[in-house]
Amino acid sequence: MRGVVMHAPGDVRVEQRDDPKIVEPTDAVIRMSASCVCGSDLWPYRGTDGLPAPTPMGHEYAGIVEEVGADVRTIRPGQFVIGSFFASDNTCEICRAGYQSACVHRQPVRGAQAQYQRVPLADGTLVATPEVPDADLVPDYLAASDVLGTGWFGATAAQAGPGKTVAVVGDGAVGLLAVLAARQLGAERIIAMSRHEPRQKLALEFGATDIVTERGEEGVARIKELTNGLGAHSVIEAVGTQQSMAQALGSTRPGGHVGYVGVSHDVALDGRALFYSHVHLHGGPAPVRQYLPQLIKLIGDRTIEPGKVFDLEVPLEQAAEGYKAMDERRAIKTLLRV
Ligand SMILES: [Zn+2]
Repeated sequence: MRGVVMHAPGDVRVEQRDDPKIVEPTDAVIRMSASCVCGSDLWPYRGTDGLPAPTPMGHEYAGIVEEVGADVRTIRPGQFVIGSFFASDNTCEICRAGYQSACVHRQPVRGAQAQYQRVPLADGTLVATPEVPDADLVPDYLAASDVLGTGWFGATAAQAGPGKTVAVVGDGAVGLLAVLAARQLGAERIIAMSRHEPRQKLALEFGATDIVTERGEEGVARIKELTNGLGAHSVIEAVGTQQSMAQALGSTRPGGHVGYVGVSHDVALDGRALFYSHVHLHGGPAPVRQYLPQLIKLIGDRTIEPGKVFDLEVPLEQAAEGYKAMDERRAIKTLLRV
């Protein structure tokens, strides 16, 4: 099969890779309906994360089950399924508490920018749609695999809900979908922080009520101005840098909540500032599996259209251009046609 391999920062190639096979009796192999590039793939692309060897890329997937192992009970060939970037048993104590991305048996799912993908722990990891969806819904379901689920966790961790003012730091796909999540969760006011016009437009479409273009300390000052000097109740941090985390903490009122879902890169917290902030912090790799049944329903009945974050579509063979466009911020998120 064909699949994306990153050889070095900035060096993305589409190569012949081995077809995935059933290895464990609990595995499934799926044929991708579409694939995509994640904002987090830009960390190694930009050289921020080390890349010790050529690495198959991609951790977002939705597609048709081709084959299942002998011990798979609920997932069947022919079903359209969505899973998350960590496979989980969905039965251990941690899973049952809703933290499948920290499952005691978790396994990363990698290499999904390809035609096929092996998914471990298929029964616990994959969720099937009621029927094979119309083609126009595939991007929406693919978004549920990571960026929507991650934005949803960020909004939930930040306790977004009725009566709350929510601020979102980061205007990538996760930040934009955190806006959508906050809207679905009933937030009263949603402030998107973005200085890029197409992203501002999408944030407003997804339910933002205010746009703040300032960032850093000026961004914090602007959020305070908009909230009677208090700060937002709920702040979603969807970048993962020192500046974005400082902006999130500074924008949160005492007693408020920060949901941090940007993959943390060299973020250091000042203990004393944290002590006096009275802010709740919760985040990490999103337990997307927890939200999939709910998200699948919202997408299936066309209540939400998270696939709107895909503003560039290229064939899998042109994945390198998809990465480049996102790196240069010409695209929010690239869909790869397989
Ligand atoms: Zn588990």
